[in-house]
Amino acid sequence: MTASSSDGSVDLVTLGQRLRHLRRSKNMTLDQLSSAVGRAPSQLSLIENGKREPKLSVLQAIAGALGVPMQDLLRPEAPSRRAGLEIELAHFQREPAYQALGLPMVRGGRRLPADALESLIGLHRELTRVLTEQSATPEVARRANQQLREQMRERNNYFADIEQAAAEILQSVKHTTGPLSQRGILDIAAQLGFTLHYVPDLPDSTRSVTDLRNRRIYLPQVASNKGHDPRAVVLQTLGHFVLGHEDPSDYGDFLRQRVEANYFAAALLMPEKFAVDFLRDAKADRALAIDDFRDAFGVSYETAAHRFTNLATHHFGIPVHFCRVHESGTVYKAYENDGVRFPADVTGAIEGQPVCRNWASRTVFQSANPYSSFYQFTDTVGGTYWCTVHVESTRSGEFSVTVGTPYEHARWFRGGDTTRRTVSRCPDPDCCRRPPAALVEQWAGHAWPSARVHSHLLAALPPGTFPGVDAQDVYEFLERRVQS
Ligand SMILES: [Zn+2]
Repeated sequence: MTASSSDGSVDLVTLGQRLRHLRRSKNMTLDQLSSAVGRAPSQLSLIENGKREPKLSVLQAIAGALGVPMQDLLRPEAPSRRAGLEIELAHFQREPAYQALGLPMVRGGRRLPADALESLIGLHRELTRVLTEQSATPEVARRANQQLREQMRERNNYFADIEQAAAEILQSVKHTTGPLSQRGILDIAAQLGFTLHYVPDLPDSTRSVTDLRNRRIYLPQVASNKGHDPRAVVLQTLGHFVLGHEDPSDYGDFLRQRVEANYFAAALLMPEKFAVDFLRDAKADRALAIDDFRDAFGVSYETAAHRFTNLATHHFGIPVHFCRVHESGTVYKAYENDGVRFPADVTGAIEGQPVCRNWASRTVFQSANPYSSFYQFTDTVGGTYWCTVHVESTRSGEFSVTVGTPYEHARWFRGGDTTRRTVSRCPDPDCCRRPPAALVEQWAGHAWPSARVHSHLLAALPPGTFPGVDAQDVYEFLERRVQS
């Protein structure tokens, strides 16, 4: 950390250190200097400790007494390495993060041993690094998510340049049929000069690790314990190189790269040309279905649903929405260009917000067989939408994956003639945000749920009687217990 502040003003700690250094190098005591400039020693001591800003006239007098130009006192550099560390220590201790700890202020003077000073500085630097890393959390993340969603909507979630890059690669490995095989993936990796290595000890926090020098991609041996398609992981990794990604400059950049790499992988697993042919035939039969799309290309339902949003508007003029919703009712992922109004907080963020209980993404959990094909029309305040929903079980519970479209486009889909229909008046709180009056009367004031907080949704807790808790669920639960 340099002692000069960015606005060009003089840093008092550095000024004091330079003054002390010059005075000692001239073998002057504080008393000698103070009598030479006609000021009290205590006053000079405050200046040397960076605790008082000297007047210009005092600085001139000091420079004169020391026999140096005044500029020597005002330079921004620390006069020595030791002094530099002392200045850094003083700055660290003035940070709110340090002051919040309520620890004593350590003076960096001569009595502080060099190793103690080095150790303190090392700890401060590490603390600052950790705090900076953590600052890429809820607020920043949610804003970045929102911006990215807007950019995706502007281009109808269709990335022509990535489609092009994927098409060129498929051509280079002479891929001419529909889905991409494992063999095809090895060919692509080889074509790009990478070898794949499956290892048992990949770091927990990684999907893959790439040795750039030796162009080796390390992948987990136990491929899919988190439900990731191992082919997709390889292709996502290759995507970062093909798309020229560099170290992300911030969280938004990181997210964008993630989206692009995932897009690239999907564009290889479900090549545009073949996917569009497939969908065109299905549309002609008025039988568009995400399950069929998935089966034709051997990918996960979510990958197929997401890929459908890439192509539906651009190629077929069908506006769509997509969301992944936890069984608890909160949104994990969402995209729309069909005007559907996802629940949002005051900042416009969607992740972590509760979806209307009457939306297909939630009613599906009440259906007799949530794992079979589920279709629903929903009348919302913004119009009627048709949705198809798929439920999948994961280690963190069940999730619904929804693809929806405005009423007039339902006719292109299988299940577009469903008679199932619900009404959603959200965001009117009387739609589903308030428990029924009878339950409130019965239980308000007599229930004390303890919230189970999802750390990644911390900043997105829905408002309610108890933060993070759905009061209606709690009341209904108690009602059932009492009655049984
Ligand atoms: Zn509602």
